[in-house]
Order: sequence, then C-alpha cells, then structure tokens
Amino acid sequence: MTAIPQERRVVTAIPGPKSVELQARRLATVAAGVGSTLPVFTARAGGGIIEDVDGNRLIDLGSGIAVTSVGASAEAVVRRASAQLADFTHTCFMVTPYEGYVEVCEQLAELTPGDHAKKSALFNSGAEAVENAVKIARIYTKRTAVVVFDHGYHGRTNLTMALTAKNMPYKQGFGPFAPEVYRVPVAYGYRWPTGAENAGAEASAQAIDQITKQIGADNVAAIIIEPVLGEGGFIEPAKGFLPAIAQFAKDNGIVFVADEIQSGFCRTGQWFACEDEGIVPDLITTAKGIAGGLPLSAVTGRAEIMDAAHSGGLGGTYGGNPVACAGALGAIETMRELDLNGKAKRIEEIMKGRLAEMQAKLPGGDVIGDIRGRGAMIAIELVKSGTKDPNPEAAAKLAKACHAEGVLVLTCGTYGNVLRFLPPLVIGEDLLNEALDVIEQAFGQI
Ligand SMILES: *Cc1c(COP(=O)(O)O)cnc(C)c1O
Repeated sequence: MTAIPQERRVVTAIPGPKSVELQARRLATVAAGVGSTLPVFTARAGGGIIEDVDGNRLIDLGSGIAVTSVGASAEAVVRRASAQLADFTHTCFMVTPYEGYVEVCEQLAELTPGDHAKKSALFNSGAEAVENAVKIARIYTKRTAVVVFDHGYHGRTNLTMALTAKNMPYKQGFGPFAPEVYRVPVAYGYRWPTGAENAGAEASAQAIDQITKQIGADNVAAIIIEPVLGEGGFIEPAKGFLPAIAQFAKDNGIVFVADEIQSGFCRTGQWFACEDEGIVPDLITTAKGIAGGLPLSAVTGRAEIMDAAHSGGLGGTYGGNPVACAGALGAIETMRELDLNGKAKRIEEIMKGRLAEMQAKLPGGDVIGDIRGRGAMIAIELVKSGTKDPNPEAAAKLAKACHAEGVLVLTCGTYGNVLRFLPPLVIGEDLLNEALDVIEQAFGQI
C-alpha cells in the first residue's frame, strides 16, 4: 500500500469521464433509492484525501459520514484486519466465539462514560444497535414506550424509521411504522422561540411535561437521544437540557440511551459527546467511527440492564464479525496513539475561527446564521440574509461549488440548510485550511 499524497488535485471536470462512465453502469443496475452525494467513483482513500478513478484528489470533509475518523486506510486498521482476514473471516460468535469480540467489549467498557460494571453486544450497523438498545430496555423495564426527540435520527429499519424525525427522504412512503414511539421537543438553541439562553430549561420542562401527561413515565422503557444531533443539523442541545432529561429518566426508572453513533469515538474532542455535561448514560449505542470503516456497531451499558435479555435473545449471524473487530481494535489503537481527541479540538479551533471570519467579513456572509458543533463535528446553518428563514438553496450551491473544486462536503438538517464538516481527525492542517479557502471562495458563487 502506497501512501496517498495529501494534496488536492483537480485534473478533470468533477465527476470526470471515468466516473461518468461508471455512473451510467450504476444507474442501470443499482436501485434508484440508493443515492450518492457526489457520483465520483473512488479509487483509493486515506488521510484527508479521496482519490477518484480519474486521478482527481478530493479533500475529504465527510469521512464517509463520520466513519473514517482515523482515515480510510489507517495503518493499524489495515494491519490488524488483514491479519484477521488471513486467519479466519467468520465463525459466527453465536456458534464458536473468538477473542477479538471480547477485546472490543473490554475496550468499550473502559472507554464509555461511568465506572459501573458494563457489558456490550456487537452488531453490524447503527440502526441494528439502536433496535437492540430498545429490545434490551424493554425486557429490562418490562415497559414498551420509547421517547425520542424532534430532529432526531436513528436509522432506516422499520423501528428506527419510527424513531427518526424527518419524513423526506427517510420515511416517505415506507410506513406503517413501529408503534409505541413518542416524540418530544429538543433544546434547539438557534431556533428556540424565547432564545437560546432559555432553551435548555424550557425544552426539558416541555419534554418532561409531555412524557408525564401524554405517555405516563411508568410506561416508558427508554429515552433515546443523540448528545449532538447529527442528521438533524448538528444541533447541540442547549446546556442543561441533557442533564435534566437524564435525571428525569433516573427518577422514573427509564433507561437513558445516548445514541453516539455519529458523535462518538473522538469525533467531538471527547471519547463520547455526553461527557461534556458529565452525563453517564445507562446504555450507549456506537457505530460509525468505531472500526475505521469496517461494519461494526455496539450497545454498551450497565451490566444488569445488558444482562436482562435471555441467552439467544440478542445477536445475529454477522454481529461482531472478526475482521470488523480487528479493525475496531486498530482504530482505537490509532485514536489513543495519535491523541485524536486533541486533534478534533484543534480542528474545531481552526474551523470555527475561519468560519466566524467568513460570517463577519464576506459579502453575503450573513447567510451563515449559526456556526456550531464540537471538535470535528462542525456545521454552519444557512439562512436568508437578515432572517432565520432556512436557506437550503445556499447549502446546495455551496456544496456544489466545493465539489467542483475538489472539496467533499455534506449537507444535513431538518430544513436541508446545514453544511456539515466531518473531516477525518487525521487530516493535515494545511489540507484543512486549503479546504476552508475553497469554502470561502464558494461563497462568491451563491
Ligand atoms: C448513522 C446513524 C444511525 C444509523 O446508523 P446506520 O449504520 O446507518 O444504520 C443511527 N443513529 C445515528 C445518530 C446516526 O448518525
């Protein structure tokens, strides 16, 4: 494996001729429901660069949606996963177990918040982890209701579609959805009617009031929340909101589940985003950043809750695949050795500084309504000048202009008006600054 030069290089139109050809083949055989942000076909990727089949090198500010935090070909991930591949690819942990699975669970027990006894179960995808957290909470509490929040995203399976807030594109036409799912307000500071400073107290009071009056706290098995809401627009619940909800859960015997699938594993400059307000969740779901791109997810939590399910009640053919577990051990090793929490904090400093300058100085910079996020999970919410009206057109145009110049950015948000930045945590500072130069120039084109 040769290291990919960490340089942006645009040598054809984006997408280039080879990508266009592959895209035609793709359209003929890949289902239309599976979309792509940018139909540029990847040849190789690593560090902060994605190299396409036409030889273009794009600066990666997406990490495959917060997955390749250690890069897409991290040395320790490749080494450990390759060695495991050569030894054996699969036995099924439910048939004959292997050490890697146990080692990943040991790491999860050590790294997740709280000093209590913890256990884990491993799965393949984020949605599968969330589904299993619900199963575990239900059997432990012997209750059925599940509470989720406005702007929340938890996946695309039937139960997790029900848990997800946004209709288009995730739910439209795919119902009926799983029952016993209830949605309550979240403290979205930027859009809270009485101001960000009141959002934490008011939103938590409203949420708790709705749970008590409309569901009955005694019927609630789990409250599930992303400590930083991802697909919903990188919304950090206003201070005080998460502790109030966690306390309410505790007081009422409700399992408090932190969905850290996007925010976990150093992404926000901490191992887990809920550490920021000292939250110790009962269960935590992880996936995305966990294994350097190999498919793995986990539910980790209090041993007595995790052990509530009968033997054989949890699992799956591929859950905790040995190659994915080896990848996870490589990714975690990389996170520790390179201090990726420190790197994420440095990325925040650079990005927020530059974005604030753009907001203040650029003609048209006032379309940046809000700059937010933590660590290497940073976003700008775009609005129409002088208002808070969502401006999804600006987000789409900025993304398009960046793509044309070889910088891969993603959009998100309930209103489609958020440009989000999720660089690999190993990205070089020069490359990051160059990407920010391109973003700055893109503002001239909207
Ligand atoms: C991506 C995501 C999921 C779903 O993960 P998949 O691996 O796509 O099933 C669930 N929760 C959050 C917070 C996510 O960001």
